[in-house]
Amino acid sequence: MKKGLSFGIILIIAFLHACQPAETTQPDEAAEIANNQHLLMATAWYQQSAEMAACYYQAFYQAETALKNNLENDESDKPNAIVLDIDETLLDNSPFQAKMIETGKPYSSDFWKTWTDLGEADALPGAIEFLEKTKSMDVEIFYISNRKTNELDSSIENMETLGFPEIRREHFLFKEETSNKDARRAIVQADYDVLLYVGDNLNDYSNFLGDRQEDFGKSSLAENKEILGRDFIILPNPMYGNWEQALKAKYGGETQAEFLEKLKENLVSFDTE
Ligand SMILES: [Mg+2]
Repeated sequence: MKKGLSFGIILIIAFLHACQPAETTQPDEAAEIANNQHLLMATAWYQQSAEMAACYYQAFYQAETALKNNLENDESDKPNAIVLDIDETLLDNSPFQAKMIETGKPYSSDFWKTWTDLGEADALPGAIEFLEKTKSMDVEIFYISNRKTNELDSSIENMETLGFPEIRREHFLFKEETSNKDARRAIVQADYDVLLYVGDNLNDYSNFLGDRQEDFGKSSLAENKEILGRDFIILPNPMYGNWEQALKAKYGGETQAEFLEKLKENLVSFDTE
């Protein structure tokens, strides 16, 4: 009798549940999700296009060539080193961008840390092979990243699991206070002759080069273009970077939609009759 009663209650609950309207996206949630839809094509390109992989292979080939040249011309008595950024340089964090698109949530360091805590980022094409060659040339490897120090353990574990060579804790200089990497670069430069820098952001070479100024930093880059391919190898990142912050600083807008509208207004187009 008791068993039959319980079964009846379960049936009633199941019936009531079936009568609930299907879960729908609420208007606020829909608006929030719309905020990150502009990341879709850049993230799809990064994850799906063979051209993306080609850019990375090409850049790491150039990095190897530049490193060999710089080693041949090295006259310093200090031991040799290279300095690399991590995110979108060695590790692929595009699943985090995909999560931003999926949920509409804006970037925050807590949200980002839910991704890095997993330690599931993949290695970017050509990255591990390049670092193995670097190691075989007797060149030390330093990682200067704006990941925070509370992300160090998961980052090291992630890179060890992927098979990155020579993962030494003292060679990871993560962000403590400032995103400006100059002071951390100076620490490495004090004891090593840094033969090459690799990153996806101009600030990965120097804060001076990363200063966007009025023309988004294009004129200072043009004045220093000889460093590219020789002292600094840059990798493609259309998803985010200081270039994006420079656009926001210039065009502003109260909302994401207003900002995107300003971007559209400032595109270079042509007149039709
Ligand atoms: Mg990066």
